[in-house]
Amino acid sequence: MKAPTKSTVNVGGLAIMPFQSMESALDHVVTEGRVNSGVGVSVNSEIVMMARKDQNLRDHINSASLRFADGIGVVKTVASKGVPNARIPGCEFWEALMLRAAQADIPVMLIGAKPEVNHAAVEKLRQAGLSSVSGIHGYINDEQYIFDEIDAKQPKIITVALGAPKQEQLIARLHERYPHAFYLGVGGTYDVYTGHVKRAPQLFCRLHLEWFYRLCAQPSRIGRQLNLFHYLALHLMRRL
Ligand code: UDP
Repeated sequence: MKAPTKSTVNVGGLAIMPFQSMESALDHVVTEGRVNSGVGVSVNSEIVMMARKDQNLRDHINSASLRFADGIGVVKTVASKGVPNARIPGCEFWEALMLRAAQADIPVMLIGAKPEVNHAAVEKLRQAGLSSVSGIHGYINDEQYIFDEIDAKQPKIITVALGAPKQEQLIARLHERYPHAFYLGVGGTYDVYTGHVKRAPQLFCRLHLEWFYRLCAQPSRIGRQLNLFHYLALHLMRRL
């Protein structure tokens, strides 16, 4: 496994790997067309806040082979500790990883999201040139079915969209059973990729106000968004 550019930086108990570009984080997973097995986690402020209260989640993230800063909050905290680093949005990282998988003919499995979303994501990837891709939606409660599918399809990259911490829990179980694949938790990525959920417009992204856009689009997220203010307060007080 390729080492990250610098040693890790502690953000609220999570050891974040500061990468200088998306490409260097991708190199960590696929090297010369071969997959490095392990687990990848894209860390944003919401996950940091969740992991502060959840020891299992914290252990899962800290034992992952790839832990990169997804949200601007985490990027700023890492930078405030003297280590410049790039923001690598989880959904963009996933798309770039799928492209690499297509180029190297690596078998991929998408787990999670609603049946129609999962199906649409698999189809779109096929059309983009990923010939070996299969999918299992996120609303079946039959883990044996997932095991059977992995046995049959032998994916080398498995991405899981169930929302945190559910996806991390499934990844931990799958990784134990099938340690030779690379796993990535991707949240709502398939919804965005297939156009079922809109990503924030460019202006919001540029101003780092994606969280505000999501709050307006889905006001039910208010409870989760309050965590972001708590994160900001801890960041400003240098308590992370
Ligand atoms: N999801 C799923 N099964 C579940 C719960 C959620 O497949 O039991 C999917 C949901 O359809 C969505 C994804 O998990 O595609 C991410 O959900 P959410 O937006 O809550 O996650 P976030 O990206 O905010 O972590």
